Amino acid sequence: NAPARDRLRIAIQKSGRLAEPARSLLTACGLSWRQSRDKLFCYGESLPVDLLLVRDDDIPGLIADGVCDFGIVGRNELDEQAAARRQIGLPDTYQALRGLNFGQCRLMLAVPEEWDWQGVQQLAGKRIATSYPAILTDWLAAQGVDAQVVELSGSVEIAPRLGTADLICDLVSSGATLAANQLKPVETLLESEAVLAGPVRTPDDARAGLMAMLLRRLDGVVKQQDSKLLMFRAAAERVSELTRLLPDADPLEQLPDDGGHLRLQTMCHGALTWQRLEELERAGAQGLKVLSVERSLA
Ligand code: ATP
Ligand code: MG
Repeated sequence: NAPARDRLRIAIQKSGRLAEPARSLLTACGLSWRQSRDKLFCYGESLPVDLLLVRDDDIPGLIADGVCDFGIVGRNELDEQAAARRQIGLPDTYQALRGLNFGQCRLMLAVPEEWDWQGVQQLAGKRIATSYPAILTDWLAAQGVDAQVVELSGSVEIAPRLGTADLICDLVSSGATLAANQLKPVETLLESEAVLAGPVRTPDDARAGLMAMLLRRLDGVVKQQDSKLLMFRAAAERVSELTRLLPDADPLEQLPDDGGHLRLQTMCHGALTWQRLEELERAGAQGLKVLSVERSLA
């Protein structure tokens, strides 16, 4: 058993796509750090929560070994290492606790543009280049297809042109990299985003309270990211139509009223464009105001 600790450690990517958004998310949760000189370890100042800056590949292992309590990493990386551990009979020791709404991408099969794609049976006997061999192996088994997995650590997309594979399984966001290599996406294995990963078993020391507090703040920050407070006045008979126009909002809350009209407010979790406001106005909402929410505890 890992020794008791009274400070929490969170592993995030040192540099790369997830580094900046991970840090600003934690900052929005009220964390701040004293930068250490080598910048691999940042000592928490506002709370006893320290940061470890590492390669994203190392994050699942750091949690599995109990070196870190939380990590922010792509679901793709977390699932790959979990699948690899399972394939050699190791138990699950970490899990994705929350989706964080950034770092979206898909793990996809992509084939040369000239292929006439007819379905997964076409993969039989083919060589597939990937950096995600464990996920791909599990997926192929689930599809009942026998193909060869060629593990590459980088530059997967040039493998078909080099002749080292027939097709690839790789992360795709815009699809521009695929197009530049004359490949087209055909199947999705995984929808990924950055996640907060944590241990399956919560430690039973001072960290438990810190972990619960951080999760609660994180939920507040993530939920409020695209939430706005909407305020308006309306006649009582207009309320049901206005409610219908706000399917992405919390139930309308009535404030003390204002001579004949109701004063209403709600937290709306979708985009409130000018067009939507005009539509609400036509349906009887008056004096519409959209306010951004700085912080909120659910
Ligand atoms: P490190 O040096 O930390 O190992 P890396 O090169 O493995 O970095 P990045 O390229 O920074 O990692 O990507 C980190 C994560 O960003 C990916 O694991 C994935 O979850 C996410 N991501 C989002 N879009 C893409 C994309 N188009 N290509 C690759 N990763 C993406
Ligand atoms: Mg990496």
